[in-house]
Amino acid sequence: MPVLKKIIIARHHGFCMGVKRAIKIAEDTARGKSGRVTILKEIVHNDAVVDKFRRQGVLQVYSVDDVDEGTLIISAHGVEPAIKQKALKKGLTLVDATCSLVRRIYDIIDKIKNEYYIIHFGDPGHDETQGIVGHAPDRITVVFNEEEMLALPDWKDRRLALTVQTTADLEDFVTVQKLAREKWPHIKVYKTICNATHQRQSAILELAPTVDMVLVVGSLTSANSKRLVKISEPLCRRAILINSEEDIQPEWFQGKEPVTTVGVTAGASTPDFLVKAVIEKLVRISDGQARVVVQK
Ligand code: SF4
Repeated sequence: MPVLKKIIIARHHGFCMGVKRAIKIAEDTARGKSGRVTILKEIVHNDAVVDKFRRQGVLQVYSVDDVDEGTLIISAHGVEPAIKQKALKKGLTLVDATCSLVRRIYDIIDKIKNEYYIIHFGDPGHDETQGIVGHAPDRITVVFNEEEMLALPDWKDRRLALTVQTTADLEDFVTVQKLAREKWPHIKVYKTICNATHQRQSAILELAPTVDMVLVVGSLTSANSKRLVKISEPLCRRAILINSEEDIQPEWFQGKEPVTTVGVTAGASTPDFLVKAVIEKLVRISDGQARVVVQK
């Protein structure tokens, strides 16, 4: 007997403006160019979007060394200047789909790097972080968590600035920023978390405590989707990252503690059709009984 009664869709979820723009640029480029079109890394961190471009014949590589001709598209996450220069040297035509909010961090770094040494709070393995570090490799240290921040040297002789990955957890950043200000009272702080990230995190912070389970639609490669899971986990009984509706198991909603209310959100790189398919599957699991509402 199905017990799922209510499906609440997060007020802010799914594609952000930077991702929409990058996909449009890549689609327009793929349509307009007669030669070979290649995307450097993943255009956005979503498997369905990446697969769609592959099926359209757009190549995807992880290194500029693997492209010898045609047009190279830089993803929404951006890239190191040295890689762009290498591509141009090889005679490739560059199309840059870097999000304007990532470019804003490049501009800050270019402006302050001679005067300030920069501490960047982010995931060192993420494409965005690598592009940012590439703008001043000798002038930036990346920290991933509070422990790494506390372990940094005293740096009494340096003027310091703090920047943050666009998709970082706002609460984590508030903690890291506080520690940094305690250690270096004069540190210059740039809050470069993007608004889309902030909106999606705030919406799920409100929604998660009101539901039994949160489903986050997004890929394992998506930093902001994983962050939405991390935020939800302590606030509801269960939070799960799903790639698509195929991952949903009907038995999740049964058992000793049945799930009557589920919250649904999606990372900034998740297309709408995946979210719709998830809602449809949840309604099927409820035998058409669940009400679908959007978070107020
Ligand atoms: S999450 Fe923010 S920074 Fe990243 S692409 Fe979207 S708008 Fe740009």
